[in-house]
Amino acid sequence: MFLSIVVPVYNEEENIVELHKEIKDVIIKENYSAEIIFVDDGSTDKTYDELYRLSRENNIIKIVRLRRNFGQTAAFSAGFDYARGDIIISMDGDLQNDPKDIPNLLKKINEGYDVVSGWRKERKDKWTRVLPSKIANWLIGKISGVRLHDYGCSLKAYRKDVAKNLHLYGDLHRFIPVLANIFGARICEISVVHHPRLYGKSKYNFSRTMRVIVDLLLVAFMQKFSTKPLHVFGLWGFVLFAAGFVIDLVLLVEKIFWGISIGSRPLLFLGILLILGGLQLVSIGILAEMNIRTYYESQGKKIYNVRNTINIDEED
Ligand code: UDP
Ligand code: MG
Repeated sequence: MFLSIVVPVYNEEENIVELHKEIKDVIIKENYSAEIIFVDDGSTDKTYDELYRLSRENNIIKIVRLRRNFGQTAAFSAGFDYARGDIIISMDGDLQNDPKDIPNLLKKINEGYDVVSGWRKERKDKWTRVLPSKIANWLIGKISGVRLHDYGCSLKAYRKDVAKNLHLYGDLHRFIPVLANIFGARICEISVVHHPRLYGKSKYNFSRTMRVIVDLLLVAFMQKFSTKPLHVFGLWGFVLFAAGFVIDLVLLVEKIFWGISIGSRPLLFLGILLILGGLQLVSIGILAEMNIRTYYESQGKKIYNVRNTINIDEED
């Protein structure tokens, strides 16, 4: 079993040497065959120089240097793309995660899980980070139905095919367990050690945490309806349209048969609103549906994922 340890780093010059030492100690102690992939996410300090120096001494260290700062999600994605391991570990590069937890993660992988996620049970960050993240975690759990305590912990282990097929984009690394769930992965969580940040600065602030809420909507939608948007938009659109249609029909009948004036009646406007809103929803549903068709067809994507096959020749 070959292990890829993926570490995104952005301006972490003071942390690199110690981080490398900690990871290397675990690899030696556990006798892993492994590579460490540092993804330099456009650092402007000496991070790359430090990494380069280490990579000269030790060829299990691989560096993927991004042209600019693309963000942690993109850095993970790059790391997963270059990883050659059967199992991929991701972790932060600021010494807040502890590589000593890696054997525990792998134990769970060996029990048959596809994704093992770390839970920073005793999180050592400022309350301004911890509180919003607690709320976000609660919300993500509620909406996605994937029950974990901590979605945002970078320390995770994945089977190769899951990590390589997450299709990360935007800021979605926080939602990896949810994406993995959509993929059909078996997911579990174990508590891991968390350290305070000693060197360098956190790259996230309150406003970035709040953006999670918007992403949450997206992920909830992806989870439930990404392959059939017309089922949501179409259904609700139809319901609204039908309600509006009935209301306005009643008004029309009143007007024709009883001559009642309807021009100033709120119901008329409600009816019109419902009809238009309904039509709009149906149209959005159809557009989304066509978009998804194009996506699957143009990229030759499958609408399913296979865990394994038996007696089936994979090569054709
Ligand atoms: N990081 C990155 N690109 C970014 C922001 C962060 O590669 O644009 C890395 C960062 O170097 C660290 C990890 O992602 O290794 C987590 O970032 P940070 O410690 O700032 O987040 P926090 O622990 O405060 O959530
Ligand atoms: Mg950190």
